[in-house]
Amino acid sequence: MKGIIGVIGVISATAMVLISISLSALNHGKPQSVSPEITARPQDSRKIQPFTPESTASPQETHATIDNEWALWLINANNPMPLGYAPPEGLTQIGTYNGDSRNFDSRAAEYAISMINAARNDGVTLIPVSSHRSMERQTINFENFYNNALERGFSHDEAFEYTMSQIAVPGTSEHNAGLAIDFNLIEEWFDQTDEFRWLTDNAHKFGFILRYPKGATHITGVIYEPWHFRFVGLYHAEKIYNSDLTLEEYIGECSGDNTVVAAFKQQFSLR
Ligand SMILES: [Zn+2]
Repeated sequence: MKGIIGVIGVISATAMVLISISLSALNHGKPQSVSPEITARPQDSRKIQPFTPESTASPQETHATIDNEWALWLINANNPMPLGYAPPEGLTQIGTYNGDSRNFDSRAAEYAISMINAARNDGVTLIPVSSHRSMERQTINFENFYNNALERGFSHDEAFEYTMSQIAVPGTSEHNAGLAIDFNLIEEWFDQTDEFRWLTDNAHKFGFILRYPKGATHITGVIYEPWHFRFVGLYHAEKIYNSDLTLEEYIGECSGDNTVVAAFKQQFSLR
């Protein structure tokens, strides 16, 4: 883990400079004028596997050994993804929402599909409202929210802080990595539904955890999100489920790297 964090730290330092360049370019509407390794849109070249709703593949039953070790890494405001990160085996469709495909890291897609199918067999319909989200989409979401806050009279700083409390800075969201799914309803009262109860009882059996539990905002930095589930693999999901820890506490270390957020904020305050 320290190795991974170390690598992320080093890459993030570089990312600070590169993301500034990239964002400047975006602000001028000409991202293609920057060198290709910065503006390459890795998700465009990713192979998206076909949706197989009939898949009944069940994940392994024994968790005595660590499965999917690659999946345990921290992505948050202080631990951004490496710049240009893309799931190494691409994305796989796990379902649809309003006619649009919803995709996930191919290495874990089978677990998501199995979970959705198992819920359906129990009479519970899990809808992946949001799963993988491109950096472009994340940036647009952030900008829209931020501009709206400005129009409502917030100062630049207030608008940024408020937006950040609601929408992750691009590169700091688990959705950008294709490892998180928002189910059914982006409302706190989702926790009063049968779908949430099913997820609470069963998600860990498919390698997923409730990522932002109630009362843990001071640790995760994110509001209570009963709809947001994160893949970490069967072994770690079970351990986290039984320990009642957040991922931050479970992993037990933070890089403390806020350079990506700082660089992103700089772009907004310069407007
Ligand atoms: Zn989410």
